[in-house]
Amino acid sequence: MSNNHLIRQAHLFRTLMHPARLAILEALRDGEECVCHLEAHLGYRQAYISQQLAVLRKAKLIVDRRDGLNVFYRIARPDILTLLDITRAMVGGSVSADLRAAKAVDCPCPKCAGSLVPSAAALP
Ligand SMILES: [Zn+2]
Repeated sequence: MSNNHLIRQAHLFRTLMHPARLAILEALRDGEECVCHLEAHLGYRQAYISQQLAVLRKAKLIVDRRDGLNVFYRIARPDILTLLDITRAMVGGSVSADLRAAKAVDCPCPKCAGSLVPSAAALP
């Protein structure tokens, strides 16, 4: 009997067994984000986020894309979000509450800064 799949499953759960990594995956739920965005929204230092991103990337749960000076990360396996949804429901968490909190952050990343064009245009 081969237990290879059980070992791989255990490795996957071990990768997920980390609140910061779960927070990163949730932050990437709606698409790719750069490290500075994750830093602003999750409240962790960039070095720490980079460390957790490396673990997620090694596990092939996320992929990165360089664009100029920025590196953007996105979810490589969308089915991981289903797993997060199931486990979140089991502990009684709410995605929408987290997303509302995330939107309240003033983020300097190219994507968020780009969405602030109207107010930026009002500046001298
Ligand atoms: Zn941002």
